[in-house]
Amino acid sequence: MNPEREQLQNVDLLICGNKIEQIGKNISAPAIDVIDCSTKLVLPGLVNSHHHLFQTLTRNIPRVQNAKLFNWLVNLYHIWKNLDEEAIFYATQIGCGELLKTGCTTTTDHHYLYPKHLQTDIPAIQFEAAGRLGMRFCPTRGSMSMSHKDGGLPPDSVVQDDEQILKHSEAVIQRFHDPSPLSMRQVHLGPCAPFNVTLELMRETAQLARQYRVRLHTHLAETKDEDEYCLEKYNKKPLQLMEELNWLGDDVWFAHGIHFTDQELHLLKQTRTGIAHCPASNMRLGSGIARIPEMLAMGIPVGLAVDGSASNDASDMVGEMRTALLLHRVNSGADAISAAQVLEMATLGSARLLGRNDIGSIEPGKAADLAIFELNKLEYTGALSDPLAAIIFSGINHQAFMTIVNGKIVVRDGQLTTADEAEIIRKGNAISTKLLSH
Ligand SMILES: [Zn+2]
Repeated sequence: MNPEREQLQNVDLLICGNKIEQIGKNISAPAIDVIDCSTKLVLPGLVNSHHHLFQTLTRNIPRVQNAKLFNWLVNLYHIWKNLDEEAIFYATQIGCGELLKTGCTTTTDHHYLYPKHLQTDIPAIQFEAAGRLGMRFCPTRGSMSMSHKDGGLPPDSVVQDDEQILKHSEAVIQRFHDPSPLSMRQVHLGPCAPFNVTLELMRETAQLARQYRVRLHTHLAETKDEDEYCLEKYNKKPLQLMEELNWLGDDVWFAHGIHFTDQELHLLKQTRTGIAHCPASNMRLGSGIARIPEMLAMGIPVGLAVDGSASNDASDMVGEMRTALLLHRVNSGADAISAAQVLEMATLGSARLLGRNDIGSIEPGKAADLAIFELNKLEYTGALSDPLAAIIFSGINHQAFMTIVNGKIVVRDGQLTTADEAEIIRKGNAISTKLLSH
């Protein structure tokens, strides 16, 4: 993903500390550890631009497996209101673990659920959980402030008031946001959606984000129901509402962005507002097909994302690339989108949404974040005329052979090196069972 989009073969890549130092033939350096990649495909670490890690504990629940977004949410809020510290810690590790195992080295998160009974600093738990696994972590401080009694969707027990949210958002930025190059921790702000926060909170969140030069993120134009909700309550479509709230610009990215008119696409282009494309979630909830090939042709910033694990339900970044590749061919034909474009969405595209120019490509000076895949496997046999296409078009298991984040090996031979996977599985299942028994 260098500026020429070259695919290099039979070259060496030298990592020094947390950076890529050099790429070329026959590099020699004193006292180096050598990783033999002669049968491997080495990609820039993948970047996930939208998630709700807490949802890993409530995947594919039978009673909402076939529900549309609004019903699905209303049902799940009643399970999620019982989340506790331990649940948040392990849910973060489960989601980040899966992402790392599929070659994703940076993720954001959108934790918008702050149950009233939980007097604890949720971002602190998440930074601890992701940090221990070695993930580059750039979550948003999410929020919901409009419950059922005010015309929103969530129950009162999981929303906070605007003042509480803004105060905590500022504290989280001050404590965790590190804007320096190759930073492992950044924070952005993410009111959940137009149907569960007040307009006042949207407006003030934008001001706060700009004061601290962090980014803005929310769900937008995901379903027709959302269009109807906004038209009924505010007499405006979601994007028009966002424009009035000062929520457009190159420091804003929206999850989904499905139901846009031509005119709205032009507004996104003009304002350089970005979209996190979540194809599996959109298919899963029957929300629709985002106009991604058109957005790419227009130069609208687009990244790729797995979305929360209750609507995907996997945190599989390679699987998401394959889903994106196939989905757009249904509507727009076989030349709608290429493997190279999908990779670009999942790397440089998502990195741009997160405001990062130090990740997303393999170039000297950039972060040593790499996803390494073994190609010498039955499922890629016969596919090696195009190794990149092989892992997107072919394959039965999207597990990386090795994932390197910030110069550290965090996945080796397909297994996390930084945590005991068996322990995460055991704890995760126990907590999930407890949550579902309420
Ligand atoms: Zn989402």
